[in-house]
Formats: sequence, C-alpha cells, structure tokens
Amino acid sequence: MVLFKTPHPDVQVPDDITTWEWAFEDKGHSPLYDESSGPLCGYINADTKERLDWREVKTKATQLHTALVREYGFRPGDTVSLFSTNTIWYPVAMWAVVRGGGRVNGASPAYNVEEMTYALKVAKTKILLTLPKSLDVALAAAKEVGVPASSVLLLEGRVDGFRNIQDLMERCEEQRQQQQEPPWTIPKGMTNADVCGYLNFSSGTTGLPKAVMLSHQNIIAQCHQLKQLQAAGQYKILAVMPLFHITGVVRFCHYPVFMNGDSVMLPAFTMEAMLRAICEFQIKELILVPPIIIRLVRDKIVDGYDLRHVERWSSGSAPISPEIISLLQKKFPWTGFRQGYGATESTACITAHPPSHYDYRYATTGGMLVANTVAKVLDLTTGKELGPNQTGEICARGPQIAMGYLDNPTATAETFDPEGFFHTGDVGHFDDEGLVHIEDRIKEMIKVKGLQVPPAELEDLLLGHDLVEDCAVLGIADDYAGERPKAYVVLRKGVEPTEAVGRTLLKFVKEKKVRYKWIVEVEFTDQVPKSPTGKLLRRILKVKDKEP
Ligand code: AMP
Repeated sequence: MVLFKTPHPDVQVPDDITTWEWAFEDKGHSPLYDESSGPLCGYINADTKERLDWREVKTKATQLHTALVREYGFRPGDTVSLFSTNTIWYPVAMWAVVRGGGRVNGASPAYNVEEMTYALKVAKTKILLTLPKSLDVALAAAKEVGVPASSVLLLEGRVDGFRNIQDLMERCEEQRQQQQEPPWTIPKGMTNADVCGYLNFSSGTTGLPKAVMLSHQNIIAQCHQLKQLQAAGQYKILAVMPLFHITGVVRFCHYPVFMNGDSVMLPAFTMEAMLRAICEFQIKELILVPPIIIRLVRDKIVDGYDLRHVERWSSGSAPISPEIISLLQKKFPWTGFRQGYGATESTACITAHPPSHYDYRYATTGGMLVANTVAKVLDLTTGKELGPNQTGEICARGPQIAMGYLDNPTATAETFDPEGFFHTGDVGHFDDEGLVHIEDRIKEMIKVKGLQVPPAELEDLLLGHDLVEDCAVLGIADDYAGERPKAYVVLRKGVEPTEAVGRTLLKFVKEKKVRYKWIVEVEFTDQVPKSPTGKLLRRILKVKDKEP
C-alpha cells in the first residue's frame, strides 16, 4: 500500500477522558492546574470587552450543566443545538453540554425556518439555545419538530416569557458546589473515541447535510496535533469565522483553553469590526477564509489600519488563488502565510504548514500531514493507490477522523472505508516534500465563501416548483466567493424558456434559502445527464459548463 506519512513525531492523545476533563479538570492538560501556564486567559467579547476567564467558564458551565439536568431533563447522549452568532456564552454552553455527556450541535444563525427545522430533525435536538434576534426562527422550527417552546432558551439578552442561561446559572450559584452535578465520565470498557460529543453538519460527498459525529477524542487529538505546529509566543485568536463551523469549534472554543490563550469573539462580521479588533487586541495571527483575504487586498478601508503587528495569515475551508496570495504578500510583505486543509469529517485539519513553512513560498499548498495521520491517494478511475506527484482522491486516517454520520450508515460506509480512511472527495497530490496540493473536488459540495452549499438541497427545492421538470445544480467559479451555485433547468412541457421564468426561479430560491445558497444563474436545457440508474452525472455537466 502506498501511504503518505506525517513528517512529525506522534503526539500522545489521552483516550480515557472527556474534552471537559481534559480542559478543566486536573488530568494533566488544563491550564487551571498548571502554574507554568501564567495568568488565566479566556473568552472576550470584542465589542463590549466582557471577559470570562477559564475559571469562570468552568464555574458557569458547571452551573449550566446542573440547571439543564435539573430543570430540563438533560441526559448524557442528548443533543443541545446552538443557533447563534459568535458570543462568549456560546462556548460556555458548549462546555456545559459536553460536561454532561451530551452532544453539542451548531447551526448557522442565518438559517431560515425550513433550514433550521431540517437541522433540528437531523441532530435530534432536545434543547435549543439561541439569541433574541433568532428567536422567531428558532421557535417556529422547534414547533415543527416537537421541541416545546419551554426548551428554547436564550444564550444572552432578554425577551419576555423566555429564560436566559444567565438566570439559570445565577440560580445555581446559590447552591453549594457539592450540590452540583458531577462531570460525566467515559464509561468503563469504552474510550473517548467511542463517545460522540459534537454534531456538525456536512453534506459529505453527496446529498443533503448530515450530522457528522465527532468524538471527544477527535477534538482532543486535533488540538494536540495543532499545538505541535504552533509558533512560539503567547496564543491569542480572533474568532472571525462562525463558531458553528468545525474551525470555530476547534480553534475558537477548545484550542484557546488548551493553549491558555485569549479567544476574542467578533459578534458580527464587518471588515471594519474585524480590523478594529485586530488592532485593539493586537492579534498576530488571523485564521480566515479566502473571501476575507480577497477583501484584505482589495478594500480601501484596510489602508486606514496599522497592521504591522500581524505576523501571519492563515487560510482554510476553500481554495485560495495564487494571484490573491501574491497580492497579499505584496501588500503585507512582513507577514507569513499558512494554510490548513481538511473538513468537518476530519475535525478540521488533515494537513497544515509547520512553522518552518509559514512562508509564501509554500502558500499555494495545503501543508503537510499533521501528527498521527497517514494518507493515501486513489486513482479516480481505477481506485489504485498512487505515489507522490500523482493526482487522485485524497483519503486520510488519524485520531481526528470522525466516527461517521448520525443515523446514516449508508453515507458513513460510502465515506469512511473499512481501513479507517476518510475519503475526502478532494482531488490532489502530495509532492516530494510531503506538501499537499488540492486541485479539484469530486464530491458534489459547492463552497461559497468557505461555507457548504449542498447542490442536492437546491435541486430538491427547484424540483418542487411548478415550472420545473428536472434540474441539476453546479458550482461555478466566482472571483470573490470562490464558487456560486448555478442551476441547469429542464422546464415542464409548454413552459417557454424566457428571462422572466429564469428570474422567477432565482426569486423562488431567494425566498426559501439563506443568502449564501442563492443561485446566481439559471440555464435552460433539454435534459440533465443521468446514468442508466437515474443518478445525476454532475461531472459531465461540469465539463459542459466549461466549454466555450
Ligand atoms: P467543511 O467540511 O465545510 O470544512 O468543507 C471541507 C471541504 O472544504 C474540503 O473537503 C475541501 O473541499 C474544502 N477545503 C477545506 N480546506 C481547503 C483548502 N485549504 N484548500 C482547498 N480546499 C479546502
């Protein structure tokens, strides 16, 4: 078997403790019990400067866990969904849930009622935590799936008739420490790789979004893998990307505790808010997605900020073009650059750049395999294992590879092979130095601004429209967003393919879907290519789309 190996020595990943014990109890990893860690850092609100250090996070999460058990019947294995923009209370709730052996699920705060209903159903949500601005959507979706309104709580803010987690925590504060719920522990005979603590959505290779089951070990392992690649110096991060995405879960919620570094939450993204926070908090490394990097090199507003303290940019979640990388280097010649490549199913990184490669020379690559990780590259037609510099599907195995998809054995078996490799659906190669080059994507997924848009979701929607007989949705290149969805539509008999019909369909999608999923173009066609078994042949369509 041709295997690509990590150049890094193995990291020791504890297998008998939960993420909670790892981060907050005296088990050899928590900054709370390590005097050499220095003063305790914490989660900070970039706007209000409200701050919770790790000791406070521990106290609050313990109280919230206790309240959820006593007042909401929360039990190990239950799902709690977080439907919120970035706030310091988001990770507190996350920690409360994993402390109790539950499963935390993050959903995009931009979801509409239908999208949220689907999310709650797939994640099997029992309790929903949200913000006042999302309460209407949360309640409507909760009603659809039979979650009582009394199980919808606010993470912060006040609305008449609804409880806020601060109230719950305060009430618990009055009780003595001994009366609070003890942390849940890994049952005898199991390891932390057997216990799912996190459910994050991904459409995987095909179909609708699924709940990726991430174990306690997955998260702990990824943090240990990342630490090995960390540049020296005090860690501090600005949470620009959403916390519901796996990067947010790892980088902004868990890793900062492990590294004892501040995690500054940006409640709402605007370039101005981000730039202000970068300067105010003297952030040295930024974890961003390509569209924000594009704005860094193009937006005039950037020139008004002194960014000379920034040491490096880190890009991930989607491909970044060499042109943008070179413009970035030109504009900020004192900075370094790195990438992380991976997926929700790999708890973020499969590969990343080590400090020796925080250099624009390597910027177009996705870095090297992280510790404890091996990869194979499979020929796209024969499935044969390929060697260095040969292009095929990237498959990876390591302690960060997910447990599978919740209640979906078919998709799990399609994506995770019996040898434990995750088939990424990404096409690329490893070069002689072990750096990965991502060249294409064979899975259906469209990536708009680093966010997933499953074409199957838009096809299902369009197929429900009176004018549509058949359709297929593809991602087309977009300078700024990376990709945008385009629909190929076969109209019902007798419907004329006019511009007005096209506009009607675009409007229909706008009304039903969150903005980043909006279709930008409709092309009418006589038929969409299908296999004899009726499977949509997207590759053929893709080739056709590229024809002049
Ligand atoms: P998600 O699960 O939302 O993180 O999406 C994972 C997918 O994003 C991967 O399978 C890739 O297709 C794409 N992706 C992530 N990181 C990179 C990267 N550094 N370069 C190119 N594509 C990436």
